[in-house]
Amino acid sequence: MTDRLLRGRHVVVDPKALPDDGLLDDGAVFVSGGVVVESGPWPALRARHPDVEVLGSDAHMVLPGFVNAHHHGRGLSAAQLGTPDDVLECWMLDFMAMPPLDTRLDTMWSALNMLRSGVTTVIHSAYAREAGQGEAETAAALDAYRETGMRVAYAVGFEDAVKLVGKGDTEFVASLPPDLAETARSLIEPPPPGAADDYFAFVDALAESHADDDRVRILYGPSWHLWCSGALLARTAEEARRTGLGIHTHVLESPMEEDYAAAVYGVDTVSRLDRLGLLAPGTSFAHGTWLSAEDMARCATAGVVVCHNPGSNLRLRNGIAPVAEMLAAGVTVGLGMDSWGFESDDDILTEMRLATHLMRRGGPDRFGPAPDYADALRMLTVNGARASTFGDGLGRFLPGSPADAVLIDLAAMASPYLDADPVASFVLLARREHIETVLVGGEIAMHRGRFPGIDRDAVGEALAAVATRPAGETQVRFRQGLRALRPHVARYFGRAG
Ligand SMILES: [Zn+2]
Repeated sequence: MTDRLLRGRHVVVDPKALPDDGLLDDGAVFVSGGVVVESGPWPALRARHPDVEVLGSDAHMVLPGFVNAHHHGRGLSAAQLGTPDDVLECWMLDFMAMPPLDTRLDTMWSALNMLRSGVTTVIHSAYAREAGQGEAETAAALDAYRETGMRVAYAVGFEDAVKLVGKGDTEFVASLPPDLAETARSLIEPPPPGAADDYFAFVDALAESHADDDRVRILYGPSWHLWCSGALLARTAEEARRTGLGIHTHVLESPMEEDYAAAVYGVDTVSRLDRLGLLAPGTSFAHGTWLSAEDMARCATAGVVVCHNPGSNLRLRNGIAPVAEMLAAGVTVGLGMDSWGFESDDDILTEMRLATHLMRRGGPDRFGPAPDYADALRMLTVNGARASTFGDGLGRFLPGSPADAVLIDLAAMASPYLDADPVASFVLLARREHIETVLVGGEIAMHRGRFPGIDRDAVGEALAAVATRPAGETQVRFRQGLRALRPHVARYFGRAG
């Protein structure tokens, strides 16, 4: 691994310490052996390390690598695959009907797009694309991340109590024509006995096999609390305490979830998760759009991280998460794209801007305090890093931190004029095309739109070839069933179809 000095006119050393500290002007970071050794003023660091390669200049800005704190590794977007946005509860069927594609290629396409926008770590919430293929897909997805160099916290998905419409599933299925009832039943069928044992054994073995891999963390991924029995969630919490692995799960994404939870489980969501032992520092909640003030206080006290997905929340009509309130309550909030971000090409910079403007949107108390640009930068780096379980150093340049960095071409970003606070400038102005270099573990993962050892165009072409491949007979039948079922689900929720 090459020793390097990363030099910038502005270097964000520690987003946690902003705005009073944590920013160097004319600074540098010395990286060696894949980790940060020290940071400080450029002249002093250059004097100490006169012969090492220098990346950046006094016309660059250097930041810790960005963390996409919730994703599903879908490279081709829903927009490209002809799946329009809709209300989450109806759209879920469209999601299931999307072609499975090729896990390695699709994940790689997503990872390359993320790297282009400075993402060096992703929390990948995995659902099997094809029934029974979860283990093979896990290997393929992890391969894709390894090839691109990206750090991944991989949450292995599982559920044992899938619902179609929530509290009324039994009556709903009984109301369907017989052939559709059969399709519906197949979707909510519980897994066979022993499946949970197999799941935990698989996660254990996977974590074990990556124990020495500093670019992979394995997480438990009970997909969605409403789709998981109390026994499964309690066991997940217990296993997490035993193994020390984190937990990543969808929580309160849609405004209907509290009604479901009350009707099906007789308790509100966060109380249920608390009773089952999931409110712990290694746990992260994707979305949290509908957390109450009391829920926020409990998440803050327990150290649960909320992974906010503003673009997805808008597109699937789930609402706008109360991020300003969460931050004020002391909740750590990371930023994710959910594979359904504001843009359809995994650009975390536009997602950050959307999050920033939404959390500062104002209301009756427009003259009160609001989150600032340093909050946005923390969401993009250290906060999401905490949910990834890669350790305290990720998302900052502390001695021993992973040497993950983003170098911005300031001249391009500042063109034709800029005279403003560096952090605010970055949050408001930085675009993907201003990113010159991205490093993961001290190694170049992207430079001027190119990826060492990977031809992005070839990946795209191969993925397009897979997408155009005709679906098999089982796939076609499955999709037809979902299409036929959709208007019934929509009508259940009071929509025309
Ligand atoms: Zn998600």
